[in-house]
Amino acid sequence: MGRNLTFSTFGKATAVFDRAELAEKVGKEGMGLPFLLRSIQDDYFNERFGTLPKGGTHNFLLHHPNLINAAVRLAMDSKYSVWGSELKESIRRYFREELWMEFEVFGEFLPHSGCYVDLDPTHKDKWQLPAARITNRHHPLIDPVNKLMVRRGMDVLEAIRPKAKKVFPWAWANTTYHLQHGTCRFGTDPERSVLDANCQSHEVKNLYVTDGSFMPSSLGVPATATIISNSLRVAYSIRERFIKREIDG
Ligand SMILES: Cc1cc2nc3c(=O)[nH]c(=O)nc-3n(C[C@H](O)[C@H](O)[C@H](O)COP(=O)(O)OP(=O)(O)OC[C@H]3O[C@@H](n4cnc5c(N)ncnc54)[C@H](O)[C@@H]3O)c2cc1C
Repeated sequence: MGRNLTFSTFGKATAVFDRAELAEKVGKEGMGLPFLLRSIQDDYFNERFGTLPKGGTHNFLLHHPNLINAAVRLAMDSKYSVWGSELKESIRRYFREELWMEFEVFGEFLPHSGCYVDLDPTHKDKWQLPAARITNRHHPLIDPVNKLMVRRGMDVLEAIRPKAKKVFPWAWANTTYHLQHGTCRFGTDPERSVLDANCQSHEVKNLYVTDGSFMPSSLGVPATATIISNSLRVAYSIRERFIKREIDG
């Protein structure tokens, strides 16, 4: 337990389009839509990647339309912070002259011995129990693949017509910390897994675990739908055991 922690690798780039040029092409109605939301998985498996032929998912979206979120990002997300008249001008341009389109990469995060949760030998929590400690190192094969996926996403943004004024990367091979999996992975071998195929603990009878921790890998896609589907599958298997009276009511 605690081993084989996985997150998702993360990459991102943005294209800035001229609003007027786009409106000419797609019409006023097309410009009114606040969403884009198109995912592609052309690189989900890709032999071109070499040793690790597993990539992940590109999710294309419009920059979030929330006013405050946009202003904060314009102020903070550049190499240096902007404020005052420079910030006002970039906010004006952003809402009146530009349209920002971006993609996120959710890449396969291979489990390995360098990414795990354990107990901190020195730091204690408020109950004086050893605090949980996360160690996150990327498997050496995943960053090069994620960088190729970011490059491919930028190729897509650069191919759009009318042409973007600029296309620039934010992240090539980061970690998406809010997508978490592993630490109680399922499997058939009790030596190498915590849970059995139905997510019941190998060691503790009738203990089931159905959050993201059962997953042996990160999939290369945001995993919440998989976590929910698996929970339903496990719930059916528990129901069957109740019916067969393998579990007392
Ligand atoms: C900002 C943000 C954006 C996200 N966006 C996406 C997205 O776009 N797409 C996507 O697929 N996923 C997204 N996710 C990830 C998604 O929320 C998680 O993958 C999903 O919630 C994980 O489900 P889980 O059941 O593993 O854990 P959780 O949803 O965290 O459930 C764990 C539950 O256990 C409870 N709990 C903890 N300790 C105890 C205890 N001791 N006793 C009893 N109960 C306890 C907690 O209260 C919680 O309800 C996002 C997450 C965040 C934070």
